[in-house]
Amino acid sequence: MLQKKIQAAREWIRAHSLTFYIETYGCQMNAHDSEKIAGVLADMGYAPAEDKYSADLVLFNTCCVRENAENKIYGNVGKMKKIKQKHKDRIVGVCGCMMQQPGAGEHLYKMFPFVDMVFGTTNMQELPAMLADKLMEKRRSLNVRDDVMVEEQLPMLRMPPPLATVNIMQGCDNFCTYCIVPYVRGREHSRPIDDVVREVHTLIDAGYREVMLLGQNVNSYGKGLEDADFPKLLDAVAKTGIPRIRFMTSHPKDASMAMLEQMAKHDNICKQLHLPVQAGSTRVLQEMNRRYTREQYLRLIEQVRAAIPGIFLSTDVMVGFPGETDAEFRETVTLMEQVKYDTAFTFVYSPRRGTKAAAMTNQIPENIKQQRIVELVALQAKHTYESNLASVGKIEEILIEGPSTKDAGSICGRTDGGKMVNLQGSLDLVGSIVRAEITEAKKTTLLGKLL
Ligand code: SF4
Repeated sequence: MLQKKIQAAREWIRAHSLTFYIETYGCQMNAHDSEKIAGVLADMGYAPAEDKYSADLVLFNTCCVRENAENKIYGNVGKMKKIKQKHKDRIVGVCGCMMQQPGAGEHLYKMFPFVDMVFGTTNMQELPAMLADKLMEKRRSLNVRDDVMVEEQLPMLRMPPPLATVNIMQGCDNFCTYCIVPYVRGREHSRPIDDVVREVHTLIDAGYREVMLLGQNVNSYGKGLEDADFPKLLDAVAKTGIPRIRFMTSHPKDASMAMLEQMAKHDNICKQLHLPVQAGSTRVLQEMNRRYTREQYLRLIEQVRAAIPGIFLSTDVMVGFPGETDAEFRETVTLMEQVKYDTAFTFVYSPRRGTKAAAMTNQIPENIKQQRIVELVALQAKHTYESNLASVGKIEEILIEGPSTKDAGSICGRTDGGKMVNLQGSLDLVGSIVRAEITEAKKTTLLGKLL
């Protein structure tokens, strides 16, 4: 019965040449989920639309990691009401992490009666049934499950080559006290090595040149699997011969020498490491439940640089965690001065309902958080520019990704370390790894000349 209804919906979608648009918020994991949702929609007969104003189906794939992202999502979903008033047949859906928070899906479903479907991170495979309900019976759906599991068997509509993301695991067991992820993505589940390797081979055959292995904490990959850990996975993926491999996110407490050995051993594992520090004070790190000290983190950085000289290092760092004193903030500043990251993602702490830190009574006033973030952003901007200046005159291998967004008529790509380079050249080079001399440093990017 359900299959018949889905088939009828499929025929309807095809007969009316319906289109879809997905607005994605948050991290690469969410972007990867959007590729799966797009795959399910393409399988149903939908074609991609240029924008959300012309699409017959608009889905908001949400993020709940930061409060400002949540507010923006509410605002943007709310704006769809006017579009629905003009075009009654348009379908609006909201899905993703934000809907996975207790009560959030129900709240949004009640608050916005024009939203036709609400679903969580693990309900993507039910999307055909939800669409069939809407298209065939004009019924709304609310579908949020709390058992979170890996869903890798869905069809996928990826971005065109050369870059692809590959999910190696879902969820997180760490429960950092500020973080909502373990509550909305569940406990860690890893995909078997063979499964990941098979997907990478498929990507190579389809013309992809670089894969980003994704997980909330890739260094603890392999829990529950036999004879699998992250270094073994890296080795196996490197042996597929794909020209470039990156991965994120690494947790410093689990980053191992064995991982560094694999990175040093294989030329096709990019010499880039994202190692979120979050804070420079051991007391704050303990309150965050990060399970490393400032000294251990700095020792790890030394080991990384000794194993892979010249490695490109990036981090996530937060200001204004509850109870962070001025002196503790200064420890973050001195840590950043000591490490001199090539780039860093800097954040203001924002309480997430349901996390331990949100219940802490010593929250930091907004004006202090703002002063701290301004200082940190300026410091990192200086370090990024210095790192870029140090690249000038070097010969780099660059994987060309597409047209430059900065300069019409030119192309752009990334160095092995991950720095973005703009250079003059033809779009025929997209997907090629070219040699170029770095000629100029900008604040966040580089200029280069093809050799
Ligand atoms: S490691 Fe910590 S910050 Fe990262 S996803 Fe897990 S709980 Fe969140």
